[in-house]
Amino acid sequence: MNVTEEAAAAVESRREELTALANDIWERPEPALEETYAAGRIAGVLRDRGFDVTVGAGGLETAIVARYGDEGPVVGTMGEYDALPGMSQRRAANRDPVEQGAPGHGCGHNLFGVGSLGGALAVADLIDDGLAGSVVYVGTPAEEKGGGKTYLVRAGIFDGLDAVVSWHPGWYNAPTKGACLAVNGYEVTFEGVSSHAAAAPEAGRSALDGLQLFHTGVEYMREHVPDPVRIHYVVTEGGDAPNVVPPEATGEILVRAPDRDLVESVSERVLDAAEGAALMADVDVDVTQTTGLHGVQPNETLGDAIRETMADLGPFEVDDAETAAGLRDSLGDVESALAELPSDAREKAREADYFTDPIDATDAGETGSYSTDSGEVSQVVPLGRFTAATWPVGTPAHSWQAVAASGTTGVDGACYASKVIGATLGRLIADDDLRAAATAEFESRREGPYEPPMPEDADLYDLLDVERRPVEEA
Ligand SMILES: [Zn+2]
Repeated sequence: MNVTEEAAAAVESRREELTALANDIWERPEPALEETYAAGRIAGVLRDRGFDVTVGAGGLETAIVARYGDEGPVVGTMGEYDALPGMSQRRAANRDPVEQGAPGHGCGHNLFGVGSLGGALAVADLIDDGLAGSVVYVGTPAEEKGGGKTYLVRAGIFDGLDAVVSWHPGWYNAPTKGACLAVNGYEVTFEGVSSHAAAAPEAGRSALDGLQLFHTGVEYMREHVPDPVRIHYVVTEGGDAPNVVPPEATGEILVRAPDRDLVESVSERVLDAAEGAALMADVDVDVTQTTGLHGVQPNETLGDAIRETMADLGPFEVDDAETAAGLRDSLGDVESALAELPSDAREKAREADYFTDPIDATDAGETGSYSTDSGEVSQVVPLGRFTAATWPVGTPAHSWQAVAASGTTGVDGACYASKVIGATLGRLIADDDLRAAATAEFESRREGPYEPPMPEDADLYDLLDVERRPVEEA
């Protein structure tokens, strides 16, 4: 069988169903851990197709683990489906929220979840046609906040998989070959004693003093950390009125670096600074770790396999040219985004509303200045990643244009992603040498056994202050 052609045909046979589902999830945007509708719909489709489905995996109600096939190599893909708070936007080429302040799919995760679903369904078809292997769809909640995959990896969800191919919406088609930054996040709360700030200041102890001294300490520390370290913070609570000595003050802080060891050692110093600040202000301090992620361990073997699949598939057309042009126009000058591309691709992309020619990875050998919970997965299984052109040229993630495109023209890119995933996973099942090469690269890059970056008792529902709600399958 020609795996790529068959996978592409399998996706085409479901184009309408996938499009309707992606649009439906777009219309009901749900933030991190609240993705009960999306998870229910996706799980329902998998169950109807004969997958063995578990909803609520790894302690996360909206996680899905669905498996098809019971022999041979086991390959997998991941789908995200959480939306972003405050990003509500209509299907329009101007900024126009459906509901002010409501969530919206600014990162295209409605496409992400459904695009990966289309890939897994295509592999199931290949298995029915005689391909000896198994496929797993892992629905991974809470990517935008909390790093849900940390909890799924910790629970062993990815154990036993030979390889995973995943993707993210973007505005060009290319494998992702680079690494990115590991991160720790903390909520730091200072507790003091309130008093009248004019009449009895000596009776008070300012929690805000503690927080400000902490941040001052961090600023001095900045000079004495290795170059790639990034530290950033915000104040989330700093008191209510200037005539009251603030009894409580809270901040959130992130520490990023290319490897976990550096993140851990700098984090330790940052938390020492919080202790020192509390001592100076004569207040108490309480620290909760909110985030812990590894950087992505690249797998160039899988990146190359994805690139070959893309070359076989070629570019694709976007159906709704008018919407594409309107959204592209609304972006205006996108030169700084275009700088990411090699010069020949840049010329072509500059003239287009959508740029769908497959290109080589733009980040090979580099460490991107971002973090993703896909990093966790890459520590326990060979992970291939790519970007697919779901958005007009130059569209930044988390923009209203990304929301609008994710509910309109974006489905064409999502179906393309389904084909790339289906075909690449099919080839991985069929090709023992390719699988072995991906595993060998994974082992050679590995620094040691996986160590969960979050404390054992960390509970994501508590951390995000979200009520635990079970999924009802549709
Ligand atoms: Zn995203």
